[in-house]
Amino acid sequence: MERRELLKLVSTATLVGGIMGPKSLANAATAPATNVVSRNLFQELGIRTFINARGTITAMTGSLMHQEVLDAIKAGAQEFCMLDEVQDKVGERIAKLVHSEAAVVTSGAFAAITLGLAGVLTGMDEKKVTQLPHLEGTGMKSEVICQKAHDIVYNQALKNTGCKVIMVETKEELEKAISEKTALMFFLNIEADKGKIGHEEWVSLGKKHGIPTMIDIAADVPPVSNLWRFNDMGFDLVCISGGKAMRGPQSAGILMGRKNIIQAARLSMPPRGFNIGRGMKVNKEEVLGMYVALERFVNEDHQATWKDWENRTAKVAKQVESVAGISTRTFVPTLGNVTPNLEISWDAYKLKLDGETLATRLRNGNPSIELGETKPNSVSLTVWMMKQGEETIVANRLVEELKKAKS
Ligand SMILES: *Cc1c(COP(=O)(O)O)cnc(C)c1O
Repeated sequence: MERRELLKLVSTATLVGGIMGPKSLANAATAPATNVVSRNLFQELGIRTFINARGTITAMTGSLMHQEVLDAIKAGAQEFCMLDEVQDKVGERIAKLVHSEAAVVTSGAFAAITLGLAGVLTGMDEKKVTQLPHLEGTGMKSEVICQKAHDIVYNQALKNTGCKVIMVETKEELEKAISEKTALMFFLNIEADKGKIGHEEWVSLGKKHGIPTMIDIAADVPPVSNLWRFNDMGFDLVCISGGKAMRGPQSAGILMGRKNIIQAARLSMPPRGFNIGRGMKVNKEEVLGMYVALERFVNEDHQATWKDWENRTAKVAKQVESVAGISTRTFVPTLGNVTPNLEISWDAYKLKLDGETLATRLRNGNPSIELGETKPNSVSLTVWMMKQGEETIVANRLVEELKKAKS
């Protein structure tokens, strides 16, 4: 900004302040308190905030929502409406965006898995809804088939319905495991490359045996096309997190898929009680926030975003490489959290520093910074969840600590 322009701005501000001062103060007194004084609760309660160089981690509160999403949440919180109606209307819009028959906003991908399976088990039978998670003697099916390589902690979401998870490795084992007890065939996208049965084969085996298929793609956008890829492929249910790359509310996710199953799943969801999903409540603010986040994500210029991530990653790399003995490598995971990551490493004999110590020093510094994976002679980071400009702060802190370790 030119000095002249700056001066003009300053004098206008003074003028406005002078004339408008008392009036705007009077307005301020009647305006909602939040617009006038914004409390810094983190400061007030002594909660550490930090620059997130790690990614979308639940323990680190996931992601930060864009302003449009925050606006939707704030506006949504100021009116009453029927919870079912907001889910109906938002569900229709989401379904169109992701090429599915139907969709419902859940309290996360984990809840989407539980509720989707609940829908498969109960159908529209309200008595069965109240019986879950006790399956014996109810006539409900009780087993989910999953590839051994796809068995991760989040499979608890399946077990919460009372179902047993049966592990298989090959197509032959799968076909042998299918029985009248089989409710669902579950697929985990993040480990897709580790299983012996691929996506398409999984779907076609499900169709062949008349068993619904579900896929967990919780952390699998970008690419944005994954939002519809698995619906197009023929999975009956697709579960995704809302608060990871889409930067919707952290306590939201989406269950998408067959209309009849989603209708049934909603019997196990609020506002209805007496069901396993009553504690997995999402209110209108989160439903609306999820919708706006998804819409924004679908319309985002992902190429530009990627370029921005690359540029900022390269900036950090260049700065830390200015310290003698430091080398960097950029890598992109093939499945899950597909964003550029930077590994910063050093010769452990030349630099008396281990990754964990460096990470601790950054965590305890000002501002606090949380890095990604650490190894004895390296640390990793991603600019994915950083605010614009934070990459410079992170790079400066790294350079500072690396230089200190050298001397
Ligand atoms: C994050 C994650 C979940 C859980 O998602 P929430 O939205 O936090 O409920 C489930 N499965 C996988 C593979 C994940 O990465």
